[in-house]
Amino acid sequence: MSDTTLILLGAGNSTRFGTTVKKQWLTSHDIPLWLQVAEHFERMGGFKEIIIVSSAEDVTLMQRFASYRFIVGGESRQASLTHALQAVETPYVLVSDIARCCIPTSMIERIMDAKGVASCIVPTLPATDTLYLEGNPIDREQVRQIQTPQLSVTHILKQALTQERLFSDESSAIASLGESIHFVEGSPNAHKLTRISDLAHLPCIQPPSNQSRVGFGLDTHPFESGKPMRLCGVTIDVPYGFKAHSDGDVAIHALIDALLGAAGMGDIGELYPDTDNTYSAIDSTKLLSDTIRRIKTHGFVIGNVDMTIVAQAPKLLPYRDTMQTTLASLLGIRQHCVNIKATTSEKLGFIGRKEGVTVHAVATLTYFNWKAL
Ligand code: MG
Repeated sequence: MSDTTLILLGAGNSTRFGTTVKKQWLTSHDIPLWLQVAEHFERMGGFKEIIIVSSAEDVTLMQRFASYRFIVGGESRQASLTHALQAVETPYVLVSDIARCCIPTSMIERIMDAKGVASCIVPTLPATDTLYLEGNPIDREQVRQIQTPQLSVTHILKQALTQERLFSDESSAIASLGESIHFVEGSPNAHKLTRISDLAHLPCIQPPSNQSRVGFGLDTHPFESGKPMRLCGVTIDVPYGFKAHSDGDVAIHALIDALLGAAGMGDIGELYPDTDNTYSAIDSTKLLSDTIRRIKTHGFVIGNVDMTIVAQAPKLLPYRDTMQTTLASLLGIRQHCVNIKATTSEKLGFIGRKEGVTVHAVATLTYFNWKAL
């Protein structure tokens, strides 16, 4: 059994990345970057467990992709690491950043081969430029540029991080205890992804696949008198609405499920449960806007949507164009990419008895094409 745990840190919110998509969720071929990184380490073997640290929202989604151990991070890299270390029981821990996504296998092997030599094994690069300190040139042979991943003795790293100070990496925390540090050769290819322009230096990231993803949604609500009726974010002028925890916009609910289905993100009940009072009588366009935000930050672009509203009553044709432009505006896509159809049930069943409405929706997504930026 291996004596080393791998922690992959990816809780940052990509504020410097400069796109709507979080960098952890850029698609490389057809998988998100964080998963490509985790699978690269997993294929190398040698880890008792792989722990991935990210935001609460990301962790919920990541669990749908793979069965690693996921932990919600903290306010800073150090807080995230301290949190994750509580789950580490092996004598050694290798800590890497998801943003350092193209680390050569040979560099990881050099680090792992030095296990036990010191309290922390650190890859470094030599300084190649002339360096000045306080106005005077210094001997660059004495200067090293620190990289990650770093391999630490777990109990020493845990102890080092109990200090009040913030450290920029594990080696500086461990060195502050007077513990030993051992340097191994790093790699210029272990470049960190911080800005979109960094992608030019990270050839291991493949362009996203151009395949489309399809999702389907279905929802039904019964009528309730004395409530305003909302459909596709538009108020329908009838003396009844829909019985629901939210505003009852059955069309938007079906659309949200279609979008979540295409993204592999579950369903409306998981994200916005009707047991949560936050969503009591909520305008469903707010739920749709939040769904769209999630889809975009997690690497997708909305293609088109198509919906069929099955209703014996009310008559919806007069509202169809407004519904279409309202949804197109919310989705951020062109009007012709939103298609809304209305039909009856030929007086059959609960719809035919004018007791309620069912809506079917499909949506397509493509991967955000960072290569075209
Ligand atoms: Mg509903």
